[in-house]
Amino acid sequence: MREIDLWVRAGFLYPMSDGLPILRDAEVAITGNRIVHAGAPMPEGTWRARREIGGPACAVLPGFVNAHTHTASLVFRGRTDDVAGGAALYDVAFRMEKTIGREEWRDLAWAGTVEMIRSGFTTVNDLWYAPDLLAEACAASGLRAQIANKVFDVALDRLGLDDYTHHPHIGEQRLREGVDFAVRWHGREDGRIQARLGPHASDTCSPELHRQLRAEADRLKLGLHIHTAQSRREVAEVRRAQGRGPLEYLRDLGVLAPDVVVAHLSFATDADLDAVASTGTNYAHTPTIYPRRGWYPRFAEITGRGIPTGFATDWMQNDPFEMMRNAINAMRLVAGDAGAMNCRDALWYATVGAARIMGLDAQIGSLEPGKKADLVLVDLDRPHLQPFYGDYAALVFYARADDIAASVIDGRVVMDNRRVVTVDEAEIHRALCRHTPSWRHRLIELGALPTPQ
Ligand SMILES: [Zn+2]
Repeated sequence: MREIDLWVRAGFLYPMSDGLPILRDAEVAITGNRIVHAGAPMPEGTWRARREIGGPACAVLPGFVNAHTHTASLVFRGRTDDVAGGAALYDVAFRMEKTIGREEWRDLAWAGTVEMIRSGFTTVNDLWYAPDLLAEACAASGLRAQIANKVFDVALDRLGLDDYTHHPHIGEQRLREGVDFAVRWHGREDGRIQARLGPHASDTCSPELHRQLRAEADRLKLGLHIHTAQSRREVAEVRRAQGRGPLEYLRDLGVLAPDVVVAHLSFATDADLDAVASTGTNYAHTPTIYPRRGWYPRFAEITGRGIPTGFATDWMQNDPFEMMRNAINAMRLVAGDAGAMNCRDALWYATVGAARIMGLDAQIGSLEPGKKADLVLVDLDRPHLQPFYGDYAALVFYARADDIAASVIDGRVVMDNRRVVTVDEAEIHRALCRHTPSWRHRLIELGALPTPQ
């Protein structure tokens, strides 16, 4: 009999390992933070477990990996979703985020962290403000994270006026904050929290700042995380100032490399995609935001070039099932072909693929012996999931974020019976909601909410 710390029983196990099918009545055995067995049940009496979770009414799958997100961006819920032309990013978000203070970022980070865990994400790749506050929330809650401070040297709140003046003092300060954060936090919590450096976007850093970020990333042995070809405005500005597409420009600056995650590529040309492919750069694909903005990236051209790709939510709702469905639906519509993306592939991009582009696939992303124990349990005993036949479509097309019943990260049960057990969820919710009147007031002043009658 072998002593283990956690024994996870699965009615259906979705290991997502190469060549392994979905297994009926299977199990995962965990010692410390490592998986020691994932597959068919071992003979009775093999394990003596300190704790057991799951059962026949659970599907067990790798925790979802969110390869590009802004965990604390909840303040913008609904504010950029129903505005034509992508203008809300410039006219609302960039102006509103400048008004948010540290105490507010802290409460947003903690609430966002709880939302990620409740939705089934076990890892995030985050690029935002106040990275130390998010890191504290991740340390306490158990969420795995790579976190970057958002670095830029323009006045973001003036981009809507086409004012692209670069201010070196802004860039220096944001870069210093990002480096200080990385030095303090990278590798903490037994490696569960890591840092990246985060150039905000191709157009919002000067060439010199891009080079400095790359040099600092090399010095500290960190990756970069950046928005690219996200908006028509960004592409137009880079073409005007640099005479090239944004990815060609970043390649020529020496920024792109296999340790870089670029998000979006919405308006990337063939030459841009060639720049991404030839440098081994990774791509975070955010399926929920694209249809909302009325444009879908050329996914087949991207993956057809061999560009490593993973899925992400960006700052839309953090429901991994909705994210996968948005990808499938959009790609089938664009291609006019129901075979354009299947459910197994979508689940792969949301787990293994996303872990791979973050450089974490040797540790997480699938359920196999030796990997770190990051997994989620889906409660199948729910009317909208019955009858459950245990294939990929049954899960990907019909499950919802709130079907996640439990979550294990780094071998630790962080959510059980639909409750995040590592933090005080009710207090975090109260702390967030007390800011709503003030945020509402500021949004009205920015013209992003109708004035109450
Ligand atoms: Zn983003």
